[in-house]
Parts: sequence; C-alpha cells; structure tokens
Amino acid sequence: MPDETLEKQTCPVCRVEPLDLPHGVCRSCLERFKRDEAHEDRAYWEIWEMRYYKRDDIQRTPEQLKKTIDTHIKYEMEHWKSLTENGLSAVRVMIEILDAVDGKRMTNAWHRRRVVFISELITLLDEELFAPVTKEQVRRYMETAIGYWNGTLSDKERQAAFDGMKRALLREKHSTWDAKALLLWMTLKEEFFDWMWYQWFDCVWSCLKKKELDDKTWLGLFQKHFADVIRDWVTEVKHA
Ligand SMILES: [Zn+2]
Repeated sequence: MPDETLEKQTCPVCRVEPLDLPHGVCRSCLERFKRDEAHEDRAYWEIWEMRYYKRDDIQRTPEQLKKTIDTHIKYEMEHWKSLTENGLSAVRVMIEILDAVDGKRMTNAWHRRRVVFISELITLLDEELFAPVTKEQVRRYMETAIGYWNGTLSDKERQAAFDGMKRALLREKHSTWDAKALLLWMTLKEEFFDWMWYQWFDCVWSCLKKKELDDKTWLGLFQKHFADVIRDWVTEVKHA
C-alpha cells in the first residue's frame, strides 16, 4: 500500500517534513514541542516564579529560589524523557496543542467544536462500550450537548441531560475512566468541562488506545476538526 507508507513517513502534525524516527513527528515539530514542554532556561523559570509567586508572603533567599528552579527544571526534563524515550507520540502533541488554546478562543463556539469532535469520535466506537445506554440514547444525548453549546438549550436542560445520562450509566458498574466518561463530559458545566478536557484526553486516550481507536484514526480526526489550530501552532500564531 504505497499511500500508507507515505503517511507513515510524513509528520502528521505539520504534514510537510519526514518523521524523525522513532518519534511520531518530524524534527521541527519535536523541537517546537520541546520548547513548550521542557524549559531548561533558568531565566524562563525566574520570570515564571515572579509572575506566580509575587504575592507570596514567604521571603525566599537566592539559594531557596535556585533550589526551586532546579526542581522545576528537573521535573520537566524527567517528564520530557518519559514522553520521548520510546518515541514521542503525535497524538500526545495534538492533545497538548489543543489544551494550550486559551484566551479569545475560549468561547461557546470553541466548546461546541470540541463536543462535535468527541461526537464523531463516539460514533466510531463500538456501541457496546456504552451499554446499558443504547445507540439511540447516545445519539439523542450528543444532539442535546451540541444544542447546549450552540446556545439553543438552557442550562436547566443541560443539567437534566447530564443527570439522566448519569442515572442510565449507573445501572451497570463500570470503571471511572472508560468510554462512558466521554458522554458525561459533554454536558458538564463550563468550569469543569474545560478542566476535564485535558483530564479526559490524558486518561481516556490511554484506555481507548489501540484497542478501540488507533492513532491513525485519532490523527485524522484532529486534522479534520482542528486543522486551523494545528496549523497555527506549526506557524507559531499565538491565541492567548
Ligand atoms: Zn512536523
């Protein structure tokens, strides 16, 4: 299959450069991602500390500040090592790109886009994963969620949909992080919805990984729904 061979060799994030094996992305995307995720520069952390701890009552000595910065750098380097030692996953890069979107984009329209993305993903999963909830119930529930983020349904209707789905799912025992969690996430209140977006990826992606949805499908969905956001990251357009 020549197409598949070509796709395997081209970076799925920028879709231009060849893969830097064993990573799932090219050298440029790897370096770009490292700039966001693994800060070795002490000046970066000094500014970070000043910004986040300027109201802190505790007066720190230069030696204490140095120790704190050493800890930050050590933590990020260890995290970076764990992300890359077996090859950096392109799905992980996409997750972080989408999580970093904030500021002006954080509107109902953006929430709706995320729900539409998840809705399509859900339709690709085996309906058995949502038992005892039926396929038709899932479909209607997804419509409700999209309607809410479209602004055509009230908060009361959102809450009723959430409660109804929770009751339906609780009829059978299931682990906390499985595909069912996706459904409840779609109608969470905004403050939890946004926070859970990342938690969901972090946990449920691992649960669904390979078994129900392979990386190629994930990457295709990301590009289909968020090509503009990914392109902006590649060309370094900031939305904050
Ligand atoms: Zn790339």
